[in-house]
Amino acid sequence: MAVRVIIVGGGIVGTSIAYHLTKNGCEVVIVDEHAPIGIGSSFTFACINYFSFVEEPYFSFRRKAINFSVTLAEEVRAANHVHLSGTLRWGDTGSTRETIQYFASRLQRMGVAVEYWTPGDVQRRLEPNLRLGEVEGPIIRLTEEGWIDSIPFIGRLRQAAIDTGLLAVVTATALHIDTRRDEVCVTTSAGNLHGTFVCLAAGSGTSTLTKALGCKIDVAKDPGILFTASIQPSILNHVVYAGDLHFRPDSNGRVMGGHHTASFDGTDGDALTQSLRLAAELAKVVPSISQAPDIQAYAVSRPVPVDGLPIAGWLPEMERIYVSACHSGITIGPLLGMLCANEILGKSSALPTEFRTSRFKPDVKTHTLRSTEDGPEAG
Ligand SMILES: Cc1cc2nc3c(=O)[nH]c(=O)nc-3n(C[C@H](O)[C@H](O)[C@H](O)COP(=O)(O)OP(=O)(O)OC[C@H]3O[C@@H](n4cnc5c(N)ncnc54)[C@H](O)[C@@H]3O)c2cc1C
Repeated sequence: MAVRVIIVGGGIVGTSIAYHLTKNGCEVVIVDEHAPIGIGSSFTFACINYFSFVEEPYFSFRRKAINFSVTLAEEVRAANHVHLSGTLRWGDTGSTRETIQYFASRLQRMGVAVEYWTPGDVQRRLEPNLRLGEVEGPIIRLTEEGWIDSIPFIGRLRQAAIDTGLLAVVTATALHIDTRRDEVCVTTSAGNLHGTFVCLAAGSGTSTLTKALGCKIDVAKDPGILFTASIQPSILNHVVYAGDLHFRPDSNGRVMGGHHTASFDGTDGDALTQSLRLAAELAKVVPSISQAPDIQAYAVSRPVPVDGLPIAGWLPEMERIYVSACHSGITIGPLLGMLCANEILGKSSALPTEFRTSRFKPDVKTHTLRSTEDGPEAG
């Protein structure tokens, strides 16, 4: 019998899984309540990086994932959406400078080409539109990091899967999952979907779905603020981490900014008010932002597995339900998705044991078996 996989979640992880499954001749349905692509992957800073993730096996996985995304982008004609523009980092306090120095030294010892620049040289040779007079160096530059224009990149990946004739996309909420001996049924707000396997690539929706299946896998929602401002012509080359503030070039000549700390988590004033504060802070190093005619602000949240590590594998004691969730999905989602697709198809995979679902223990089963004849077919 042909394998049919229902994927809950059409973000970067679910779409990569779908692409690699269809590439292997498998029929796939993506069901997502957010259109056109996954919500976490639509509103994201989207830097592809490994700077402060120096523990193995995560470090090597992230590095490999960046190379994989470059190759994958070429394969689906999305190379212009992956920008290996390099990153710049500097601290704005003694302790943040120390932290950056710590990671830079560790990376150097691990064989990464870490460049040390003075603020003056960065301004003269790399980023002439930044004002770095008050920045205390050194500035760390990594040339193997960058950013992905996530919406068009995922769009190309999804279109390539649709072009195989094997992918259908349903905009609906997955409400309930039944496993049976030889199939699974996903009850959605648009009707029932039947398949051989279900793959949960539901980002921060993972906890609710897995809890209902009797093995809660905790994926928290970490709130944050992002904003974009239009500055024509584009004035920035690198992704920049300046203390807690980060900013980068965005598509269409815009600049995107965000902040690491809790004071910008959406609880202290609305997203626009906070973004205007961030933009004012950013204007100290990017003066032209103060003339930006429009600032668009977004209160967003990222899925964060409880122990920070990616999650991949079959749900414990559930033969037909696969789970894939991670923090930093833009960096690792494309590679993670390819490896998960291989596993769903029964192939061996190079997924590190540290990412395995076996670290989560099943609860007493809370799911109830329901008839699969409850509603109309959705796809
Ligand atoms: C402010 C911010 C900055 C970030 N910066 C970076 C960065 O610099 N680098 C990086 O690599 N990552 C970054 N991330 C994280 C990255 O964006 C996410 O890890 C990634 O997009 C998650 O992809 P995903 O496919 O797992 O989830 P998503 O894109 O969220 O997709 C999951 C989808 O599942 C759907 N879903 C859930 N439950 C159901 C249900 N019951 N029925 C139907 N649909 C359902 C949701 O609607 C959602 O669309 C950032 C995120 C944020 C918010």
